[in-house]
Amino acid sequence: MKLFLPGPVSVRSEVLKQFEKPVIGHRTKEASEIQKSIIINMQKIFGTKEDILVSTSSGTGLMEGAIRSCTRKRALICALGSFGELWQKLGIENGIETDILRAEPGEATDPNKLEEVLKKKDYDFVGITHNETSSGILNNLKELKPIIEKYSEIIWAIDTVSSAGGTPIDQDKYGIDISITSSQKCLGLVPGLSFASFSTKAVEKARTIENRGHYLDLLLLYNYSREHNFQYPSTPAISNMVAAEYQLNYIVNEEGLENRFKRHLTMSNYFKDWANKNFEVFGNKKYLSPTITCVKNTKNLNFEKLSDEFSKRGIVISNGYGSMADKTFRVGHMGDTTLGDMKEFTKIFDEILKNI
Ligand SMILES: *Cc1c(COP(=O)(O)O)cnc(C)c1O
Repeated sequence: MKLFLPGPVSVRSEVLKQFEKPVIGHRTKEASEIQKSIIINMQKIFGTKEDILVSTSSGTGLMEGAIRSCTRKRALICALGSFGELWQKLGIENGIETDILRAEPGEATDPNKLEEVLKKKDYDFVGITHNETSSGILNNLKELKPIIEKYSEIIWAIDTVSSAGGTPIDQDKYGIDISITSSQKCLGLVPGLSFASFSTKAVEKARTIENRGHYLDLLLLYNYSREHNFQYPSTPAISNMVAAEYQLNYIVNEEGLENRFKRHLTMSNYFKDWANKNFEVFGNKKYLSPTITCVKNTKNLNFEKLSDEFSKRGIVISNGYGSMADKTFRVGHMGDTTLGDMKEFTKIFDEILKNI
């Protein structure tokens, strides 16, 4: 089956082969080397010189860890859809006062509205969805930077789960403290790992916060890695890390980040053109995601039937998320998918449309 989902994505066979290697001990020199290599390459992917944390959880784990480890007063989440809603829930369920600023459907965060909200209450954590996988919208960090930087106390975290490795993050250019991503989306890895940057400012903030929990305490992950030669506090998904070391090396040193970003954009432009000819792409044209396309179901196709037709041909696509189900469907063009794959995909879609 070929996955055209907004995660998890199909994984290259060379990467899957890494799982055939014998399991290694997590307190060995080899394990340290692996974690160190992951850190160096993730710094390049996030565009940061700050420290990198590896977590044996999916991205949700680090989103929970970030809001809990770095909020002392109250948190604000700038949501573009479902994954922003999730982040607010993670804050509230950890006993943190967490407000939400929702963008209009298909729109990015409005800098003026963000400014209004920040003036009203004393927030010390702002979490922003960078690329919203439910709506196919990419927030514009450049527009938000001048607002957030007025408040020196704020720890700025971004959810780059469906963007890191597919489009530039440039964390240090914008003064972001924490970027969070998962293994199974643009990085083209199997699910099970997540990565976050953790700035010196965020470290200092976390030091002032009590009750950060344990397993998802970002400061513990940071301290342990520093004090124990790049190792993990408990037993990490070590085989997953072996595969991650291999794939991140490929991304940074073989394909190269510039080429990877260009490939994502080319696939996105190609598919969006096709989608606009046959349906209509959802969302404001100024903020469309380069890694996933949310398509309005203007032909009122029955999604289950459509999905069955794809499945007969070895392809998986995704329904619209939550309340957008059936009104939209989503196609991921991320990870190691190629323009050739997208052309094959639209050819099959054309065939299905003739017969459905
Ligand atoms: C997939 C996704 C998540 C959830 O990540 P998991 O790795 O499944 O925990 C969060 N935010 C965004 C934008 C996503 O696309």
